[in-house]
Amino acid sequence: MEIIQMLCPSSKYSIKCPFGMTPQGITIHNTANDASAKNEVSYMITNNNQVSYHYAVDDVRAVQGIPLDRNAWHAGDGRGFGNMQTIGIEICYSKSGGDRFHAAEINGAELIARLMLQFGWGPELIGTKTINTHQSRSGKYCPHRTLDEGIENFYNIVRQKYAELSGQPQPTPQPAPAPTPSGDSYLVRITTGALNIRTGPGTNYDITGCIRDRGVYTIVETQGNWGRLKSGAGWICLDYTSRLDGGSTPEPAPQPQGHYVGENVTINGVYTSSMSTKRLNPAVKSGTITKIVNGANNPYLLNNGNIGWVNDDCIVGGGSTPAPAPSGFSKGQRVTLKTSADRYCTGQKIPSSIKGKTYTIMQVGSGNTHPDGVLLQEIMSWVYKSDVQ
Ligand SMILES: [Zn+2]
Repeated sequence: MEIIQMLCPSSKYSIKCPFGMTPQGITIHNTANDASAKNEVSYMITNNNQVSYHYAVDDVRAVQGIPLDRNAWHAGDGRGFGNMQTIGIEICYSKSGGDRFHAAEINGAELIARLMLQFGWGPELIGTKTINTHQSRSGKYCPHRTLDEGIENFYNIVRQKYAELSGQPQPTPQPAPAPTPSGDSYLVRITTGALNIRTGPGTNYDITGCIRDRGVYTIVETQGNWGRLKSGAGWICLDYTSRLDGGSTPEPAPQPQGHYVGENVTINGVYTSSMSTKRLNPAVKSGTITKIVNGANNPYLLNNGNIGWVNDDCIVGGGSTPAPAPSGFSKGQRVTLKTSADRYCTGQKIPSSIKGKTYTIMQVGSGNTHPDGVLLQEIMSWVYKSDVQ
């Protein structure tokens, strides 16, 4: 599926998307007519109605009309959660239905799965407040045809797309691998407002709890980018933590190359959203990282959005962070995944259907974010640098 942008001009932000937003979920819609995604978005951004949404998706492509760091008027709940904090997705061709609508639903499911990976929402959140229908926000019977045909069927397609994109084994979780004692422990600070605790080192393990205090915790064992809590509560993903002490880790390349929440950085480029590919000259040349969205094109949010989103290429200087050492790989580079590759950086087996193909590097790992890996755009998965050429 192709994803393109036809963004609302900033002169219309006051009508279409007046508030800044850090997305907390997704609201699903059907358009109730038979226009293509391009035509839907073109109409939406040119009229002056206080009606807007972030994406329309049809049988060919997803078209983004509103930046993801701004709200949109689609959920019918005023200044409630749906309008103020969720990404609105319209699935096209629902008036007449049929094959073209079902193809649009499949593309819509893929778009939702990609956004889930981008924002760190796991499949357990499908059908909860985080990922739900317009109906759940304000009672309107929307997405009408998807509801008619069974919302669980649609959610199952989203689950399947998420599994494909994340390379997770489905549906049976693997038993926990034998632990590799590292012999040392270290402190991390949680950098996200909600971090799941799981029974093993991967998202395929069951969730047993959630840390919401952004506190400091002791990790006593490390596997890839997962750490085991000293308390015995389970494992957490270290991508959403920043390490506090200077102790050694069993991982190679422990230099603090990545950026962290709270770091002051100097920039020479900026983007209006975490997904945007249009680099702009920043009006303000420095700021503080207030959020990190791993896997996004532009993962670092500066000053809660008052400056915008940046990526490693935009950052020309940082507090205590040295410039990343050259890794031999760069964003945008095309690489082939070796057939000898065995596992993703996240620990799951790589299906053979994925191997031997050429992909685009979306992000080069550094710091706590898979320092040995690269994120491949087409499969939205981290693989080891040694497994690509
Ligand atoms: Zn709707």
